[in-house]
Amino acid sequence: MRALLGALLVAPLLLSAQPAPPAMAAIRQEDLRRDLMVIGSDDYRGREGGSIDELRASVWIAEQLRTIGLEPMGDFGSYFQWWDIRRTRVSALSTVQVGERQFAMWQDIAVSGNAAAMVNAPTVWAGNGLDSTIDVQGKVAIAQMEFRRLPGRVTSVNSAEYRYARAQLTSLGNALTGRGAAAVILIADSTADIAFEGVANITARGTYRVNAPSAPAAGSGAGTGATRGPVFLVRQSEAGAMRTLAGQAATIRLHQESYTYPSVNIVARVRGTDARLRDEHVLFSTHQDHDGVRYDVRGDSIWNGADDNGTGMVALLAAARAFKQQPGRRSALFVYHGAEERGLLGSNYHARTPVVPLTSVVAVLNAEMMGRNSPDSASLLGVQPPHKNSNELVEAALRANAATGRFQLDSLWDRPNHPEGWYFRSDHLPYARLNVPAVMFTSNLHPQYHTPKDEPESIDYAKLTRMTQWLYLTGWYIAQADQRPTVIPGFRLER
Ligand SMILES: [Zn+2]
Repeated sequence: MRALLGALLVAPLLLSAQPAPPAMAAIRQEDLRRDLMVIGSDDYRGREGGSIDELRASVWIAEQLRTIGLEPMGDFGSYFQWWDIRRTRVSALSTVQVGERQFAMWQDIAVSGNAAAMVNAPTVWAGNGLDSTIDVQGKVAIAQMEFRRLPGRVTSVNSAEYRYARAQLTSLGNALTGRGAAAVILIADSTADIAFEGVANITARGTYRVNAPSAPAAGSGAGTGATRGPVFLVRQSEAGAMRTLAGQAATIRLHQESYTYPSVNIVARVRGTDARLRDEHVLFSTHQDHDGVRYDVRGDSIWNGADDNGTGMVALLAAARAFKQQPGRRSALFVYHGAEERGLLGSNYHARTPVVPLTSVVAVLNAEMMGRNSPDSASLLGVQPPHKNSNELVEAALRANAATGRFQLDSLWDRPNHPEGWYFRSDHLPYARLNVPAVMFTSNLHPQYHTPKDEPESIDYAKLTRMTQWLYLTGWYIAQADQRPTVIPGFRLER
């Protein structure tokens, strides 16, 4: 299904006409393909945020920017802005024992959240968890999930079974700990059972945030449940055993481990030509990380992330070549954000610790997944309320689209009721939250999204070229305009 932005496409063009033709010819399909065949290849092992593979990819990008001739804007005259990820998770050395039975953490049992816990208490059979006459106060409640209904069908990286299992863990866990249970062990029903390994894999990874004071938590986890007892999941096949164990003593030792390791943003600039405007910046944004090497899917365990976000990486290189060939009046700042997949970490860091004053950033143009799906359609996020935060920026992007890609714009993905919440899932967001005009260019999700099959061979390079031209020309219009884009007064996101 698709909806067109007819009303917006005929919006008046408020920006001044441009005398100088931009260096559009510098954006070449052969460059985009050549670069993506390198950075999307198995050699970079999926560029997981915080891994040596992300750092190798970052060095490669910096070397391209140096070759193109951009000014380094990072630490100590380099292209790199270093920062640390803090990762927190429940240690695999944690133990859960009921009676004589020991559960192997992450193989036999998974726990929701990251909190450390020490519990010595009797267990009690709590039925389906919903009978509030059963006294669970101070005890370890064991309950059998009863299937209710699957969550609504949405396009998601997570299966319906996974989302169901997590929702059950939250609702039944909260119900039982809310009645005073010291801990909760939930037995999967047949639906949640399908997702047991997925839940164990993802919860075992823990959560990630920028290692800085006052940095918000991000990542895969539900709440850490620090003030409530832990909530566990065991397989459906444990149902018989768990019934016989109910009433016996439980000993739970959950150890939390937390450690830091480096990720990096790559920052480079083409200085503007106008003495009055050159200290203002058009920020071209993307991310260089993906999901690394994970479990095997039909013989492939490298999650290349060619579309997500190799396309954005090579698009920024092409835009950098164009700005180097013909600089704008304002400066063009290119920022590759690290560890986006771990919760927009690099962009959260740079938005709060920018290499130029944030007030000098007149617009953020985020390139995120630009090489898949129908050749004649694409999305611009931040194009309609409540996500739209600048009329002039959106007008420039629509005008650039009319002059380059001529994509039919699918507005569904930018709506506040879209089940994917796509607007909230990439690197423009931290800037928009700080009232910087921001949009995202994307060709949306596809069946290979976040799988090992997101390969450079499946990219539509002609489309990627037109997407890159669109991105570049939007930035060019902003760089040349007499006035910087304004923020719509009272701009406020729905969450
Ligand atoms: Zn992405």
